Amino acid sequence: MVSYVNGMILAILGFLLGQSPQPGDANFEPGRLPLSWRTGGPNCVEIPDWQVHEYNADFFILRESGCTHYEKPFLYLVFGADRALLVDTGAGQVDTRSPVMQLIGKWAKRRNRPSVPLLVVHSHGHGDHVAGDSQFRNVQGVHFVEATIQALAEAFQLGDWPNRNGVIELGGRTLDLIPIPGHQEASIALYDRRTGILLTGDTVYPGRLYVRDWRAFTASIERLVAFTGQHPVTHVLGCHIEQSRTPFVDYPVGTVYHPDEHALELGRAELLELFESLQRQGGMPARIALRDMTVVPRAPEAAR
Ligand SMILES: [Zn+2]
Ligand SMILES: [Zn+2]
Repeated sequence: MVSYVNGMILAILGFLLGQSPQPGDANFEPGRLPLSWRTGGPNCVEIPDWQVHEYNADFFILRESGCTHYEKPFLYLVFGADRALLVDTGAGQVDTRSPVMQLIGKWAKRRNRPSVPLLVVHSHGHGDHVAGDSQFRNVQGVHFVEATIQALAEAFQLGDWPNRNGVIELGGRTLDLIPIPGHQEASIALYDRRTGILLTGDTVYPGRLYVRDWRAFTASIERLVAFTGQHPVTHVLGCHIEQSRTPFVDYPVGTVYHPDEHALELGRAELLELFESLQRQGGMPARIALRDMTVVPRAPEAAR
């Protein structure tokens, strides 16, 4: 009887252990993503310029309203013990500085400490990610890094662009900086070692991935695949959503209101799927429709 009871206990224990999530090797700070985001409209009068989402106490996501600019980009604000990091400054005519500084103030107040300095970098140099730059340049307490290869290389000691990764230290929090040109020459990915989040800008997101330099883009995706083979990823977060929840269907360019928008987050599986589809092209640029994104070749940009 005793052994029967022991067996039952073991069986129940085993069942419970099997049901509950196991931490494994990846011990990441957890966070929460919304089921859907505000896009723009249907009534623009009701929509604030920014949606602020707290992924966790030290990781914030800001989404610009589609009523302000149809690109409705996502910005990221990440806090370490010594400074905060802002990725991108918005699209079109919009006040980005006020909501960012307000958030920094609230974060500091919650921790009973004076404000922290801010480091500003960009996922890349396109207009819908740098429009608010003048609001942060030459501001006291702000270290502003221009969205150019040269400025990035100087600020983060990146030699041999794009083959060497860099690191950004925020105080008890390290982000890896991975150069990923192809969509734009100064495109970067950022990997937050604390949450396991990989920020991929306009290079990988649920939407149209415009490729200006096919070879560089393929090499960049290959580097992301290699990097994420060594570093577990919780979420791949880009800067836009253009895809709907219906596979292979996206919202046309310029659409303000996305009533059935795809989730923001992707995973390593989508990275692998993207890389495999590029490999199959053998270096030949082509439009590639995938379930959650579309690769769209574009003519190279004029040198800046
Ligand atoms: Zn872009
Ligand atoms: Zn963009």
